[in-house]
Amino acid sequence: MSPAFDPASGAAVHEVCIHGAGAVGASLALALSRRGIPVALVDASLSRPAAGESAREDVRAYALNNGSVQLLKALRVWDALPADARTPVLEMAVAGDAGGAIGFSAWQQAVTELAWIVDAGALDRVLAEALRYAPHVHRVAAPVAAPLQAICEGRASATRAALGVAFDQQPYHHTAVAARLVSDQPHHGVARQWFQQPGILGLLPFDRPQAGHGYGLVWSLPQEEAHRWLAAEPAEFEAALNEATGGAAGRLTLASARAGWPLVTGRAERWSGEGWVLLGDAAHAMHPLAGQGLNLGLADVACLAPLLADARARRPWRSLGDARTLREYVRERAAPTLAMSGLVDGLWQLFSREEAPLKELRNRGMSLVDQLPPLKRWLTRQALHG
Ligand SMILES: Cc1cc2nc3c(=O)[nH]c(=O)nc-3n(C[C@H](O)[C@H](O)[C@H](O)COP(=O)(O)OP(=O)(O)OC[C@H]3O[C@@H](n4cnc5c(N)ncnc54)[C@H](O)[C@@H]3O)c2cc1C
Repeated sequence: MSPAFDPASGAAVHEVCIHGAGAVGASLALALSRRGIPVALVDASLSRPAAGESAREDVRAYALNNGSVQLLKALRVWDALPADARTPVLEMAVAGDAGGAIGFSAWQQAVTELAWIVDAGALDRVLAEALRYAPHVHRVAAPVAAPLQAICEGRASATRAALGVAFDQQPYHHTAVAARLVSDQPHHGVARQWFQQPGILGLLPFDRPQAGHGYGLVWSLPQEEAHRWLAAEPAEFEAALNEATGGAAGRLTLASARAGWPLVTGRAERWSGEGWVLLGDAAHAMHPLAGQGLNLGLADVACLAPLLADARARRPWRSLGDARTLREYVRERAAPTLAMSGLVDGLWQLFSREEAPLKELRNRGMSLVDQLPPLKRWLTRQALHG
């Protein structure tokens, strides 16, 4: 942590000010620091009472694709994760709401794993630890002047709003209920998902809290129902969960508190301008049914950091906030991000409708895709690499 100093004023000189120390902002800070670019990282926890920030453990388990894992390895964060905080997904079984089914396996796709399930709290901790030793990162409580302001404040970003950039947001009127579970049967690395009426239920195989028997739950439900299950007695909640999963993953019991996230899809109207750029959920937010939000945010980092380093080396007379450089980032990231958020939103729309013909069609379509190995390979590639 040794920022450069302006000899005249004694103030720290930063080339990039990163707003937001979530997984995307922290990763960007590390990626720029590794390239020798001095950054200020605005960390809201520095200006909040300590108890408030540390009180709530994030019960989510993220599905991370190969692209994200490669970035975290390059940042020396992946290997710092405790062994039980990351679990490989070897198979995925998806069921429709009228007999449709589709399955993916790492073996069939000739990869060692389809994804990794990672403890959200552990990821935050190893990122925070890596930041402590990053040579060019200066954690600050409030924004500082810098040629480039990189905004990683999540979907409700105030800095984005202050720049006058609109965020076109559609609520799903669903809340995701997340929790940790334990099953009486081993998970064998199988992720499961049910598209039901009226919710989408995902079980992510996870070695916490019990090796080989843990799951991360993400259950997207209409708001009222979600709030009912968030407040229900544990036994009542477990009964509903076991009924919804029909015993396919064994008998499930709660192993953590439950937490809820209101779900939206959203996109900023512009992702960059002179002296500023958006990354992660501040630029694009989506339903977690495909587990892609953070993967796309980390892909933003993997694109922007080398681009800035290259611009700095090849055109040192240009500011890092030069709009032309930032447009290259937007050109590279817009197409894959819009394709993925369109796919996720399309799936949600398809499965949220109750008309009988549509129900039959989507279930048949699911089973049909299951019979088409090239299409399955393509889908797996998109999910693996973002
Ligand atoms: C239930 C659920 C399950 C999910 N599962 C997956 C999954 O399996 N795989 C996947 O890839 N994605 C998943 N996601 C999506 C993923 O959580 C998000 O895409 C990801 O957290 C976005 O990271 P971010 O850093 O851009 O934003 P955030 O995580 O929202 O972080 C933003 C940070 O900025 C800070 N901040 C906000 N405003 C300011 C300010 N004005 N000044 C300073 N700091 C500020 C906040 O305190 C926060 O620390 C899931 C989401 C949900 C809700």
